[in-house]
Amino acid sequence: MAEKRTVAFHTLGCKLNFSETSTISRMLEKEGFEKKEFDEKADVYVINTCSVTDNADKECRQLVRRIQRKAPESLVVITGCYAQLKPAEIAGIPGVDLVLGAAEKFNIGDHLRELTKGDSAKICSCDIEEVSGFNASFSVNDRTRTFLKVQDGCDYNCSFCTIPMARGKSRSDSIINILSQVNKLAVNGVKEIVLTGVNLGDFGKGPDGNKTNEENFYRLIQELDNVEGIERYRISSIEPNLLTNEIIEFVSNSKKFMPHFHIPLQSGSNRILGLMRRRYKRELYAERVKLIKMLMPHCAIGVDVIVGFPGETDADFKETFDFLHSLPISYLHVFTYSERDNTHALELKPVVPIHTRHERNKTLRNLSYMKMQYFTEQHTGQTRKVLFEGHSKTGMMEGYTDNYIKITTPQRDEWVNELVEWKL
Ligand code: SF4
Repeated sequence: MAEKRTVAFHTLGCKLNFSETSTISRMLEKEGFEKKEFDEKADVYVINTCSVTDNADKECRQLVRRIQRKAPESLVVITGCYAQLKPAEIAGIPGVDLVLGAAEKFNIGDHLRELTKGDSAKICSCDIEEVSGFNASFSVNDRTRTFLKVQDGCDYNCSFCTIPMARGKSRSDSIINILSQVNKLAVNGVKEIVLTGVNLGDFGKGPDGNKTNEENFYRLIQELDNVEGIERYRISSIEPNLLTNEIIEFVSNSKKFMPHFHIPLQSGSNRILGLMRRRYKRELYAERVKLIKMLMPHCAIGVDVIVGFPGETDADFKETFDFLHSLPISYLHVFTYSERDNTHALELKPVVPIHTRHERNKTLRNLSYMKMQYFTEQHTGQTRKVLFEGHSKTGMMEGYTDNYIKITTPQRDEWVNELVEWKL
């Protein structure tokens, strides 16, 4: 019998990318490939890139160099957002054999059947306007929590963001398809599902982005709440203007939707929010947080924030800092603004010096640390349920409480993928 071809993956970026890599991996395994770790030798290496990562280009080059040292005869395929945005640049990296854009990444099996190691890379990518259809994706086995992609693309036009250019218009799976997938996951023993998307709150536009039904995010979570076997859902991230009161109220009454929200703020200055072309003001954000904490005082709230956006003065930054300081949030994800080709933000002046961007980043990361400490201390002494994850290499295991406090403890096999009562 012929030996199986082997394939290894490396994923850069967000949870959506992880769930897509996981799906591509399952597709190739079904076609007869054997999966290897990225550090091992494989016949094919697939790198799923991200455009949000600051050093997408550098990281990609480094990874390809690593592959070339280890296995120069192997095929190297680059896909993901960065591959859609800069196909020619990526094709120019020595050692790359195939660049797959957004529309082609799920057809990788067909491409691999025809691909041979050559001198120049093949590019399979079309204009993002032509990308439509929805490819359902979920990750399982790679992580205990399963990330389920229910929405892709974005119709917003935030001035710093390349995601709409990399992933196309807003489209979603149908509720009926999602329920069928979730039922299958439940049968397979999955306990926690993280709903992911590019702009999740915009769920309901159908696979081609043309809204033809009555589906929306609120209806989706209502339906999911009734699936037997799934114990926990989390909403990965939702725009504040789309996080309606009814969604917050529903989560507060649900036993399955965890008391945990991740809500991008990006800036605490209304002037900067305007320049960013965000669709809300800080007052709306504060109202959302207030309602959440009123209904669920124990709720974790994570916040994305960008520092060093063009035009952000010391006073604007202080406004952001003071605003975040005053809010009962639990942690921050801080991003340092960096210039992206073809974005409106490139035209905005004055540019913030790099060292100031880094200083601001550090200040907010310190604030995040303090917020997290405080949030954890507030719950000390309480007993909360922790879902423990497996695959520990260090003899330790990790899990999260319902409200996203991370617990690390020595490995106990009987706790893997189990909900355990835990005194904090
Ligand atoms: S909402 Fe804004 S930041 Fe988020 S993906 Fe859409 S354009 Fe980008």
